[in-house]
Amino acid sequence: MRAPANPAELAAAIRAGDRAVLARAITLVESTKPEHQALARELVQILLPETGRAIRIGITGVPGAGKSTTIDTFGSNLTAAGHRVAVLAVDPSSTRTGGSILGDKTRMARLVNDERAYVRPSPSSGTLGGVAAKTRETMLLCEAAGFDVILVETVGVGQSETAVADMTDLFLVLMLPGAGDELQGIKKGILELADIIAVNKADGDGAMRAKAAAAEYRAALHIMAPRSRVWSPPVLTISGLANQGLDALWEQIVAYRQKTEASGDFAARRRAQGVRWMWTMLHERVAERLKRDPVLKARLPALEADVAAGRLAPMLAVEEIAGVIGL
Ligand code: GDP
Repeated sequence: MRAPANPAELAAAIRAGDRAVLARAITLVESTKPEHQALARELVQILLPETGRAIRIGITGVPGAGKSTTIDTFGSNLTAAGHRVAVLAVDPSSTRTGGSILGDKTRMARLVNDERAYVRPSPSSGTLGGVAAKTRETMLLCEAAGFDVILVETVGVGQSETAVADMTDLFLVLMLPGAGDELQGIKKGILELADIIAVNKADGDGAMRAKAAAAEYRAALHIMAPRSRVWSPPVLTISGLANQGLDALWEQIVAYRQKTEASGDFAARRRAQGVRWMWTMLHERVAERLKRDPVLKARLPALEADVAAGRLAPMLAVEEIAGVIGL
């Protein structure tokens, strides 16, 4: 990367919609170099007043549910209607395997060639918390660059869904059409996170099965305690491939925003997210500091071994570690 420019210049170029500079700024956000991170933090701080105007939509679904197909079609509908759409991803598996499931830009062929869209693969290093924090900062940069719809995609595995639900205004869960046995396997937690459920592939032979699945999800949601006074998650049937039901999906998103803004829930969710984000970053920072401390680095393997062997109580190990860093 070129030597970083000063943050005020970068900010001005991002505001002006310079995509090359946006991409460069995101690379700074994702960098592990402390000087890049410091510059990125400064940049985000400068641009903060221009963030927050977009609707932030999290999207999950098991591999094969049709996330990329649906995002490509849905996003293209939105850009055709005058919106500017940024697609980001949180894919913790990319940190383990080095190959990101959501990293392949060719999955969204139309959007990647769409001037009104910006597709960015998942950051590929660090813990889930670290990856999520980087995606969050990237989201803010995209908002400052004038994108008014942010789609944050994640795979339906592990804790990444919670992380994405916690950085977005609305969480959309894509389901596959299938019989009741499918519902049995669905983690209850995912229904609890969903603000909208869309059963995808409701086309051709799949249409009837999608309707049946939707009815089952409605029944399942019905017996769950309502999370909001103003919003009950609707269950839609869509086809990302055939571009069906996506206007209705957008209408629901708009309705969700209107209702939750009127009730104050929208702003409350963002406020709570901001505070939780602060704590997450603080934990990351402290953990990083712990890992880098030379004294601890030398001592930790022995402490771990002692705890594992039952020679040392975990509490006492923590005491010693805390003592080293002066806690
Ligand atoms: P992802 O893994 O969730 O991103 O899923 P993809 O978008 O890659 O889709 C997986 C497969 O399902 C591909 O073969 C798609 O063509 C197909 N697919 C996606 N959406 C639909 C749909 O609405 N209808 C049908 N019939 N197939 C779809």
